[in-house]
Amino acid sequence: MPTLSEVLAELDTLWPAELAESWDAVGLVCGEPEAEVSRVLFAVDPVREVVEEAVRIGADLLVTHHPLYLRGTTTVAPVGPAGFKGRVVHDLIGNGVALLVAHTNADRADPGVSDALAEALGLRITGPLVPDPADPAGHRGLGRIGETAAPLTLAEFARRAAEALPRTATGLRIAGDPQAPVRTVAVCGGSGDSLFAQVRAAGVDAYVTADLRHHPASEAQQAGPPALVDAAHWATEWPWCEQAAAQLDAISDRHGWALRTHVSYEVTDPWTAHAAHTVAPETPETPGSPEAGNAPGIPGTPGTPDTTPSPSTRTGAPR
Ligand SMILES: [Zn+2]
Repeated sequence: MPTLSEVLAELDTLWPAELAESWDAVGLVCGEPEAEVSRVLFAVDPVREVVEEAVRIGADLLVTHHPLYLRGTTTVAPVGPAGFKGRVVHDLIGNGVALLVAHTNADRADPGVSDALAEALGLRITGPLVPDPADPAGHRGLGRIGETAAPLTLAEFARRAAEALPRTATGLRIAGDPQAPVRTVAVCGGSGDSLFAQVRAAGVDAYVTADLRHHPASEAQQAGPPALVDAAHWATEWPWCEQAAAQLDAISDRHGWALRTHVSYEVTDPWTAHAAHTVAPETPETPGSPEAGNAPGIPGTPGTPDTTPSPSTRTGAPR
């Protein structure tokens, strides 16, 4: 059985800490380097529900994409307004669970978070959206560009994306002509509205990311294609958990470690419900109305009845 430090050394080869942004907080948050590791849980967020799952399944190591503490703290006391983070620290240490964060280093890695997203969407990856100049092979970097296996309309692509990504309360938001052809797609797991200039320069038909805000999205749409597909932040990064678990499985096999790896299906997107119009308007849409421009039948758009079950009642795999 490997020690935590042995496992961490291997994971650092997958997501080297030096690939992380300077503002980021990646690496080991808690855990004894000499403790033995037999079971590892992968998740997007280091939140209470995920820690409870790690304890429940007997994990020795929890690997999350998002940092627990992105900025400095002077206390890990489990009380007060930020006491939920201190509670996470206490529950992890109290139950012998180490926490490792792989955030922007996993975004930039090869393969990285956006590779997992692109593959989940069925895209054939052609390269990074923002190549890492330090990678002569041209595989590392932010975001990915890929191609669909066959020409699709935006409505078809969006429908497939909604099925391919894990289900969340909010589903997908779409901007663009539903009948526009989609063959080339840029993706960026997590918040991607800082990459519009690179997406436009790439000349793709559609851009899949999360957390798109009104003004950047509005300006991007006014400037013309590409179409926008805005998914739940958690859903765009969750596919990385499966990719990461498979990578650690391969490492474990190579070393004869017999590690047990798990992926959390806990939906930790903060949005828990989606209120939508359930009766289609009988009068034609008027320009400027809230419904204008939304294609009927595209999952997750206003005007489409939302039949998404509550995440807490969902059973089985999220795909
Ligand atoms: Zn994220």
